[in-house]
Amino acid sequence: MTPRPVDAVVVGSGPNGLAAAVTLARAGLRVTVLEGQPTPGGGVRTLPLEGPRVPAGEGLVQDVCAAVPAAVSGSAFFEEFDLAARGVELLVPEVSYAQPLDGGRAGIAWRDLDRTAEGLGVDAGAWRRLVGPLVRHRQEVASIALSDKRSVPWSGAGTPAGAAAFLQALAVLAGPGGERWWRTEEARALITGVAAHTITRIPSPAAAGTAAYLGALAHGPTGWPLVRGGIGRITDALLADLRAHGGEVVPDHPVRSGPDLPAARATLLDTHARVAADLLAEPYRSRLRSLPVGAGVCKLDYVLSGPVPWSRPEVALAGTVHVCGDVGDMRRAEAEVAAGRHAERPMMLLSDPVPLDPGRLGRTGLRPVWAYAHVPRGSSRDVRAQADAQLERFAPGFRDLVVDCVVTPASRMAEHNAAYPDGDISGGAISLWHMISRPTARMDPYAVAPGVWLCSASTPPGPGVHGMSGLHAARRVLRALGRPVPSLAP
Ligand SMILES: Cc1cc2nc3c(=O)[nH]c(=O)nc-3n(C[C@H](O)[C@H](O)[C@H](O)COP(=O)(O)OP(=O)(O)OC[C@H]3O[C@@H](n4cnc5c(N)ncnc54)[C@H](O)[C@@H]3O)c2cc1C
Repeated sequence: MTPRPVDAVVVGSGPNGLAAAVTLARAGLRVTVLEGQPTPGGGVRTLPLEGPRVPAGEGLVQDVCAAVPAAVSGSAFFEEFDLAARGVELLVPEVSYAQPLDGGRAGIAWRDLDRTAEGLGVDAGAWRRLVGPLVRHRQEVASIALSDKRSVPWSGAGTPAGAAAFLQALAVLAGPGGERWWRTEEARALITGVAAHTITRIPSPAAAGTAAYLGALAHGPTGWPLVRGGIGRITDALLADLRAHGGEVVPDHPVRSGPDLPAARATLLDTHARVAADLLAEPYRSRLRSLPVGAGVCKLDYVLSGPVPWSRPEVALAGTVHVCGDVGDMRRAEAEVAAGRHAERPMMLLSDPVPLDPGRLGRTGLRPVWAYAHVPRGSSRDVRAQADAQLERFAPGFRDLVVDCVVTPASRMAEHNAAYPDGDISGGAISLWHMISRPTARMDPYAVAPGVWLCSASTPPGPGVHGMSGLHAARRVLRALGRPVPSLAP
């Protein structure tokens, strides 16, 4: 299909590309999105899950990349876009996340802050003092975390208190005092599991910032939600709005070099800085190439014959389970990956959607369980054996339930999403400097060449399903074209 003449071309239909496309189309621009894959959505897709041992017609679907869109709450884009009004049902687990430990112990983050604190025994007060202010000022904390990192976000009178809560959490979680803040391994490991979402060394300021922001959202009204039917429903809602405003998506249309780009008043690139660099001329190409590629993930799509038999039953109530062990295990695992080696006990994230969404069960009762493990960038290793061992450690009998497991090593992630070179799902290396300065330390992180804006996770605020890189970039495009920013409401 040949793209039509347009005002704006967006390369890539991930949540940021579609957030930008929707914003521009609503402003009255003719928008075309060029997508390299046959299915739109990038990191926000739900597709059939098939494997050699899954019976034909089982009807399982799996979230290909993201499964838990925690960052939609707190995102100015999704707040105004209003997913609920568009029929996207966020399912809120009673337990936002859990951290199983040896000996049948676990840290449990209930959505209810007080219940979480009470479950942590002598650390109840410490949890309330650190996480309580973050939760009370979660809107302000989210505006700091999801800002363009070039302006001071002002989200109302609570901003100074939100900033103070954020800074206190950074000091505790990244600084030397962190060890003394907690007395139980349950509390220490629980919050460290959130920090370990960043695929970087822990403790570190970047990991601490992630723990503060995601930790605050966990106790908010939508916690860390899942989506009924799969996360792809979010993409469906974005596509419906784009089409309603005259935009179009051209699938199976990879853009491999600058001459592949159609002429337009504005070109937006929803792809990794490294991939975007290849579409630009010098000196813009070299600038973008200065953002290092980050560590990778190995995706594991399990098909189980029953629920994961966690030693501690409450872990099964969690929408997200951080599987690695105690703080020492997590530090070792992340240090190995940062040094380019595989961890014997890797850091993993796991989500079983069935307890909240029984419709995800297959025809004969098989269930899809989503997981991924942190690995060095470019790793071609299938880490299934290490992942199984980790799960068996905290859920004895797990191996007996595995009917199938589709493994996608880091080196193959780019086959289904060119924005994940070497399996880097973070849009570039994660450190405090790279989170603030990405993609380059220029005043405008989005305008990367004349008439070209980068709008992917390689720009602030970074990875996650929030659409904010797309919104920040689209606002700058509209300013350049002298157009007002439109309403995003349904
Ligand atoms: C296994 C995994 C688990 C994750 N879990 C979570 C989670 O639970 N919660 C969360 O918030 N985030 C999660 N993430 C991260 C999240 O998916 C991403 O941060 C987010 O999707 C980034 O959005 P984006 O729009 O910047 O890019 P993407 O969603 O990656 O979309 C980029 C799009 O651009 C297309 N593209 C790239 N280059 C080209 C080209 N040259 N030509 C044409 N098309 C191109 C790609 O095909 C893709 O469709 C996860 C990611 C992975 C891979």
